[in-house]
Amino acid sequence: MLPRRQSAPALALPCCVVSTSSSKEATSTAAIQEDLHNSPTVSTSTTDGAGEQIMERLPLVCGKPQEASISDFLVSLLECPVCFGYMMPPIMQCSRGHLICSTCRQKLTVCPVCRVTMSNIRNLAMEKVASKLIFPCKHTHFGCRVRLSYADKKDHEDDCEFRPYFCPYPDEKCVWQGALKDVYKHLITSHENVITMEGSDIIFLATNVNLEGALDWTMIQSCHGRHFLLSLEKIHLGEGCQQYFAACRMIGTMRDASEFVYGISVEANNRTLKWQSKPRSIRESFVAFTNADFLVLNKSTVELFSEDGNLALNVIITRAEDINES
Ligand SMILES: [Zn+2]
Ligand SMILES: [Zn+2]
Ligand SMILES: [Zn+2]
Ligand SMILES: [Zn+2]
Repeated sequence: MLPRRQSAPALALPCCVVSTSSSKEATSTAAIQEDLHNSPTVSTSTTDGAGEQIMERLPLVCGKPQEASISDFLVSLLECPVCFGYMMPPIMQCSRGHLICSTCRQKLTVCPVCRVTMSNIRNLAMEKVASKLIFPCKHTHFGCRVRLSYADKKDHEDDCEFRPYFCPYPDEKCVWQGALKDVYKHLITSHENVITMEGSDIIFLATNVNLEGALDWTMIQSCHGRHFLLSLEKIHLGEGCQQYFAACRMIGTMRDASEFVYGISVEANNRTLKWQSKPRSIRESFVAFTNADFLVLNKSTVELFSEDGNLALNVIITRAEDINES
């Protein structure tokens, strides 16, 4: 059984600074980064006014029926009264004609509208109607304006760029999800041990790396107008076997992440170890750190490179185009 995860403080220092008070620095850099985050250079692809355009296109969902086209009217009829998702074949109904989606039907014994006992009656006419309609993507409220047929809807939604982001903090307990533009704010407000360091060349100092148990050290590096989540995960893989995974993930889309390169180097006792890769996007899901493309250190390597129980990871983030030019 894996030991319960604890969080140990990560102390990050800029390369040029030998020692400083991290809490004061964290507050000020966080404030700067909050401003940065709100500036146009780091805004996400959500455009202003998107909500108004959606309202115009979906008058029946949000406005008066007489303004709606017939197709919008039919789409609105297909909204399940229980889950508010769109009903797709097989569409079920009660004996009095109230429609319900097949997923909700399986959970109910009486009609949610008229309370009559549910039977297994399909509404074939509405199924035919559904197959001819164009539906809005379910991530409309996050800014997606795509409309598509029933057949294409699920594939698009699974890959929709507006689908919510999950909290990228390495703690399975956090269930937050939301828009990309809100991820940074969530991290610094809900995970109080996450500090932000500004600069493309910083030291991510993981303290007490030899403490027993599964641990994680996490901080945010802000540079090039973007935020990157740095994590060091200590994972127990079995009796006496521990591994450390050093990861750099961008708080951005996969396309944004592909524009950067990060390097991690550890140096101590006349030894140097370097790793260079592209940051992963927090959008990419990976089952566990153990099977992802991150720098892996074993216990004895960490012992070789740590001093007084602290491991200093020098993290440098560069724009890929700058590397190609040089
Ligand atoms: Zn439903
Ligand atoms: Zn009914
Ligand atoms: Zn979408
Ligand atoms: Zn969270």
